[in-house]
Amino acid sequence: MLDDKDRIFTNLYGMGDRSLAGAKSRGHWDGTGDLIKKGRDWIVQEVKDSGLRGRGGAGFPTGLKWSFMPKESDGRPSYLVVNADESEPGTCKDREIMRHDPHTLIEGCLIASFAMNAHAAYIYIRGEYIREREALQAAIDEAYDDGLLGRNAAGSGWDFDIYLTHGAGAYICGEETALLESLEGKKGMPRMKPPFPAGAGLYGCPTTVNNVESIAVVPTILRRGGSWFAGFGRDKNAGTKVFAISGHVNNPCVVEEAMSISFEELIERHCGGIRGGWDNLKAVIPGGSSVPCLPGSVMKDAIMDFDWLREQKSGLGTAAVIVMDKNTDIIKAIWRLAAFYKHESCGQCTPCREGTGWMMRVMERLVRGDAHPEEIDMLLDVTKQVEGHTICALGDAAAWPIQGLIRHFRDEIEDRIRHKRPSMAAE
Ligand code: SF4
Repeated sequence: MLDDKDRIFTNLYGMGDRSLAGAKSRGHWDGTGDLIKKGRDWIVQEVKDSGLRGRGGAGFPTGLKWSFMPKESDGRPSYLVVNADESEPGTCKDREIMRHDPHTLIEGCLIASFAMNAHAAYIYIRGEYIREREALQAAIDEAYDDGLLGRNAAGSGWDFDIYLTHGAGAYICGEETALLESLEGKKGMPRMKPPFPAGAGLYGCPTTVNNVESIAVVPTILRRGGSWFAGFGRDKNAGTKVFAISGHVNNPCVVEEAMSISFEELIERHCGGIRGGWDNLKAVIPGGSSVPCLPGSVMKDAIMDFDWLREQKSGLGTAAVIVMDKNTDIIKAIWRLAAFYKHESCGQCTPCREGTGWMMRVMERLVRGDAHPEEIDMLLDVTKQVEGHTICALGDAAAWPIQGLIRHFRDEIEDRIRHKRPSMAAE
């Protein structure tokens, strides 16, 4: 459980002043130049010591990722790209950071870019985040006016610029290489890897793509020390984490908590409990729409971190916690996700282009109970043919929710087929 004094995002609800003056009053931009003067190796080591794992869903160690960037320039510039294209169903944590605490991200960009030898950072924000874009741009302008960006940024001796650009509504542009394509002005389609962005990213130059939260926590980690951050959560699951809790809880919210908090405590402390009580809990998608759902019986004892949820064949993902009570038609809920992924597939690889449509259409019939029982295994088989056989992770993201549904709610699907009972709300 996190005390208020340990929260990094102390203006997450916008109750305070989000301007530069307000940010400084909350301790941001305090001694930033001095932190930078401690050097790249020190910064990267502190981030490694903190145990910070990427907050965009994959959970890759951030300090290790930074160390893949070339230490010396080979004539090409290096770039930091911040992935603010937050479009996953259920996920709205970065929105609150950018809207109410934008200086945490801007200060983080300066420090992270210096650590990776980059004089420029690009923030690629979701097109629909218009107010957040305005808040970020206002904060960037203030930072330039105050000498925190530009030449000799924050008195660090490092010249640094930030460019804010926005997408146009494509979920796939949140995939890091599609994002880079889009930034370059091309159609947002994922690239084959390798080469990885650290070798050839934006404009063919060394690039690290990081999530908003991953960058925004860095200044506080450096000020308080990597060991402070590592003190929260379990081994290899360190730090504070911003959760976005939606669905059938009494008080849906976005909240920063300690990693590895129990699901029960998260819901009781911040969401006022499950709608209708814990006996009414049916299922939870614990990490955004790309991870498999888990039944309420498992989630009651859940530990909200990367490793515990992975052991249950699910994941922490973006920490977007979608709670479903017993009134939920879970088959229809997962069909909706299947339709989403079908719509958002960029179509360049066959298993995803054809598979997402095929899965959505079978799911549609399962919602109506209009299918043969053997089609359940056939659908499962198709998800396995898509999983791991595509250029980017969207194929996996489309397959996993259906696998979770069949793994945990096969009885319900069979029952609907047996009785040809249509969805409660579908017809
Ligand atoms: Fe495009 Fe889907 Fe292939 Fe990703 S997996 S590259 S979204 S077709």
